[in-house]
Order: sequence, then structure tokens, then C-alpha cells
Amino acid sequence: MTDLQIRENSDIAVNCDAMDSVVPTPGALESMPAKEVKRETKNFYDYTLPELEALLTGLGKEKYRAQQVFKWVYDKRVENFEEMSNVSKAFRAELPKIFHFERLRPLTELKSKDGTRKWLFDIGDGLTIESVLIPHKDRLTLCISSEVGCNMACRFCFTGKQKLKRRLTTGQIIGQFLHVQDTLAREGARITNIVFMGMGEPLDNPDAVFRAIEILHEPHGINFSRRKITVSTSGIVPLIPLVTKSGARLAVSLNAPNNEIRNQVMPINKKWNIWELLDACREHARESGDRVTFEYVLLKGVTDRIEQARELWELVRDIPCKINLIPFNEHPGSGFERPTPESVLAFQNELIRLGAHVLLRRTMGRDIYAACGQLTSKFDGRPERMDVNPGL
Ligand code: SAH
Ligand code: SF4
Repeated sequence: MTDLQIRENSDIAVNCDAMDSVVPTPGALESMPAKEVKRETKNFYDYTLPELEALLTGLGKEKYRAQQVFKWVYDKRVENFEEMSNVSKAFRAELPKIFHFERLRPLTELKSKDGTRKWLFDIGDGLTIESVLIPHKDRLTLCISSEVGCNMACRFCFTGKQKLKRRLTTGQIIGQFLHVQDTLAREGARITNIVFMGMGEPLDNPDAVFRAIEILHEPHGINFSRRKITVSTSGIVPLIPLVTKSGARLAVSLNAPNNEIRNQVMPINKKWNIWELLDACREHARESGDRVTFEYVLLKGVTDRIEQARELWELVRDIPCKINLIPFNEHPGSGFERPTPESVLAFQNELIRLGAHVLLRRTMGRDIYAACGQLTSKFDGRPERMDVNPGL
């Protein structure tokens, strides 16, 4: 043990299921929209303010009315047009012919002994998603899901074991925030940070994810700072500029010190390799002035060797960044093992010695299966079916 300090954070992560060997191209994504419940009216939560303004002005209404309604819905949390007292009676009567309010229905809420909380939501057709709230110091970070299942098929990821079942709608992404925030508000607390590190690959559902970020940020509504929102991607390189444009922070699941190992554990690397990915990260850092977060899952005997810490440092040293080490969370049949506490510490200390800004992600919420890579869309009411070994 050296005198180097262990630094920890609890910035979440969750997720995934198995994937296809074929990584979808951005063009292909558009042909698979999130399936929406067929209704005569539109879900209000699917609309950004500019979209609402365009829709209402198209119907001959003044633009300011969109702002008024938006404020009632997102600031005052009204779910009924009748209650919007500063909106004219005639307009209030028209709105239900255009919109309905479809919030997410929670099926369960689980609380870990370490304070982590997990919500399971019903999104219809027997599908469920999970959102995790992680407390750390004065922060409450909400880890949001963007898809049910995931086609990226990272070998170590539980979500990645299930192929993509559904891309979430904007309303379903916003719905996770609204439910958790409203629950916290009753307890006198609030969400301070949001990370897209739940189930799914956010850049495989960019349309809904970036519209949700717009809604979260809208000053006439929730007014959540873009700087407190992080989008984590496995490396859909051509879409990384969308993160830059959104003003959110970028996290990249690097997870390997070279192309050879990354090809084995993350099939997406065969489509966009480490060099292309790092170029996109460099460009993001240059454009945004932000540091990129590199997530690195430590897999025993695969990515946790001390010389691999040096290899990793050589990859990222010229990019303003921090490295977030995540000891692998085991799940049945993954074929990988959790590294020993000693190898994790040695890996971290080597990076610190080299000059890296490195954080060790504490495993949170293990007892409620809310830790990185443990989220599932196949809830059978018995989370204890998972045989997760005690680790660090
Ligand atoms: N799809 C996105 C975001 C969700 S995954 C992405 O891959 O970045 C969030 C994080 O959890 C990723 O960094 C991923 O590498 C990590 N992860 C997945 N399965 C894990 C596991 N079993 N143990 C530890 N981390 C895991
Ligand atoms: Fe899991 Fe993320 Fe990989 Fe999808 S992209 S399989 S959610 S680690």
C-alpha cells in the first residue's frame, strides 16, 4: 500500500444486456422508432418547448401559450389542463383534444442499506425498465435508462444479454425523472445529477434522449443544468458530436487498454475502433472545454493487469479526462470474474502515479441489484434469483 489516496465516487452505472453482432448504423436507427401506445391524442411529455410552440402556432395560437402550459406541467407539475388558471377557458377546453398526460407507472421501489434506491417501471407489453438513485455526499444522482435491452452486446454486461426490445420514448425518459423527483420532493430532497448509464445505449436512441435533455434543461420548466447531465456511450462515434451540441457531459465506456481486448469484450469496437473513438473524445473536449470521463471496467485477468494501466494511460494522456474505474459486478454466466481488491488498488495507484485523475466507483446498491451492469428488463419479482458474489 502506498501513501496514494483511494478516491471514490458513486456516479452510478447500470445496465445492459446482450447484443447483436451487428452494430446499427445511425441511419438504421431511424427505421426502428420506439413503439408508442396507439392513442388519438399525443403524450404531452414527448414534446420539447420549441416543438410545442410549433404545434400550437400551427393551430393559430400565440407562441407564449406554449410557455404558459409548459410551466404548468413541468414547474407546477399539473396533469390536468383544467387547473391551468391563467390559460383561457376556451383554450383549456381545446387542449385535451390534442394531448393526454401519460406518466410512468412504478411497479416497485427498492431501497438498499447503503441508501441507493431503485424503481422498476412498467412501460407496457410486459416490459419494464429500471432507474437508480445514488446518494453520495451532498449529491443525489439519478441513473436513467434509455432502452429496454441493448444491441451493443458488451460481453460483461447483464443488460447486453437481452437484445434490444424497445427504445424508450422521450416521455418515458422524462417520466423516470418526474416520478423520482416528485417522490424526493415529498421528502424535501431533489435530484442533483442525471446520468444516462441505466439500461441501454443512449446514442442508439438519440432522438428521444436529446429531446429529453432539452426538456430537462428548459428554463420555463424543470430548468436542470446541462452541466449536471452526463451521457455515457459505448462508442457510437459519429453521434458523439450530438452530446457536444447538447451541452451535456460525455462519458465513454473504454473498458480496454487496446483494440485487441476491446474487440473481444465490446463488439462495437469492430465498427469504430479505439483510435476513431479517442479522436471523437478529443474533439468533444476541445469543443466543449470539458473533461471526458473514461469508464473502465476491471475484469479479473482480462483488463486489470498493472501493465494495462500504463497502456490505458498512453491512450488517454493527451485528452483532458478523468478515468472512472469500475470493478466488474458479477452476474451468472458472464464468464468474467471480479478483480481482487489488491489488483484494483494497484491499478488505481499506478494511474495516479502516472498523473491521471482517477476515481474508483464504489459499488452501490448491490443488495437490490442496482449496481453497474445488474439492471434487467426481465423482472420476475425475485431479484434474489441473481447469484451475485460479494466483492470489494
Ligand atoms: N450503454 C452505455 C451506458 C450504460 S452502461 C455505456 O455502455 O456506456 C453503464 C456502465 O456500466 C458502462 O460503463 C459499462 O461499461 C458498465 N458496466 C456494464 N456491465 C457492467 C458490469 N457487469 N460490471 C461493472 N460495470 C458494468
Ligand atoms: Fe451494456 Fe452499455 Fe454495452 Fe449496452 S452498450 S451492452 S448497456 S455496457
